[in-house]
Parts: sequence; C-alpha cells; structure tokens
Amino acid sequence: MSKILIIEDEEAIADLEKDYLELSGFEVEIANRGDLGLQMSLEGDFNLIILDLMLPEVDGFEICRRVRGSQNTPIIMVSAKKDDIDKIRGLGLGADDYMTKPFSPSELVARVKAHLERYNRLTHSGVPQNDIVEIRGIKIDKTARRVWVNGEETTFTTKEFDLLTFLAQNPNRVFTKEELFREIWDMESVGDIATVTVHIKKIREKIEFNTAKPQYIETIWGVGYRFKV
Ligand code: CA
Repeated sequence: MSKILIIEDEEAIADLEKDYLELSGFEVEIANRGDLGLQMSLEGDFNLIILDLMLPEVDGFEICRRVRGSQNTPIIMVSAKKDDIDKIRGLGLGADDYMTKPFSPSELVARVKAHLERYNRLTHSGVPQNDIVEIRGIKIDKTARRVWVNGEETTFTTKEFDLLTFLAQNPNRVFTKEELFREIWDMESVGDIATVTVHIKKIREKIEFNTAKPQYIETIWGVGYRFKV
C-alpha cells in the first residue's frame, strides 16, 4: 500500500485530503508544521508528498529543496496563490506537480495516482513509460491524463476522462448506466444516473465524427452503453 505524507497547516484541508486519499486505499499521515514535515519526509518511507507552501517554522520551498537533496519521492506542491505556483516553477526546485487552492479532492486523488504510477514504473523499469490505451484513432494517456482524437489533443473533464477510459479499457462489453455511475462516481454523489447520459453526450461531441451515428460509444437501447472495437 502506498504511503502519503500531507504537509499542511490548515487542519480542515489536511483532513479533507486525507479522507479522500484513504477512501482510495492510501495510507496517509499529516504533518501540520514545516519542521515536522521536513523531519518526517527525510526519515519516513513515503511514496508521495503533498506539500503546502506557506507553513509555520519551515516553508514549502525549503522542504522541497531539502527533500530533493536526497530523494526522488514525487512531490505535489499546493498553494493558495497562483503567483506562488509560478514562482515555484521558476525556481526549479524539482516538484513534480503544482496545484492552486481550492482544488477538487478527486482531482488531487487522480494526480496522486498518476504520479505514483509513473514513479513506480520509473523505478521498476528504469525507463519512464506512460500507460497508454489506443483504439481506432483515440489515444488515451492514463499516466498524463491526456487524450488525442485523430492526432489532435482534446480536453476532457476529470469524470469524462474516467468514463471514457473505463469504457475504452473494457471494449465490447455493455454497461448499464447504474454500473457506470457506480464505477465512476461511487462515493462522491448520490444516485442521479442522468449524469451518466450527460457525460456520454459530452464525450461523444469530442470523439465522434457524427454524434447521431456514434462509431465509438454505442447506445444499447434499454440496456446501456458499449465501446465498440
Ligand atoms: Ca498554509
């Protein structure tokens, strides 16, 4: 199981991040001061660090610099100020990702997973390689969470991406709206399966040549949807 360290002095934010990450199966510890976070980063065996910038005692810049001095653990830096994010990038401290508060916890979880997958692959194979799903002109980079339709990069929201990826990874299988809802939205919202229909429509607008005659995601009337290969 992957262990994640959250270095964050705002208790409510730290707790929210922790809840979401634990629901996704991660083991999580929180440090609410910079000096404590630095010590835990250097002594603990964490797989990933979520690092707030403004912290009591020792700030996020210093922690990032010190941790990078001895290890390659993925670091996601978070700040309330967009300007700070630009500053961190400029400094080249070696953080792997940056997020501006407030952000959606599910987006954080998605990024954590992507960085862990990438890091594990890097350390195990020695060669960084992204996890790619490719079907008839649609290329999905699961690691970078990017999609290309006929060679052109197309933007998907988090849920559209998750839904498209799930269907594409399980081709020629019919899923009911209820099944898709459970798979993609699970704990986050309660029972409006019309959400699935709306998202399928949005995905089709992005991937289909003619949404009236879908070539990728078929509607199986009275049952649900199927990704055709
Ligand atoms: Ca702070």
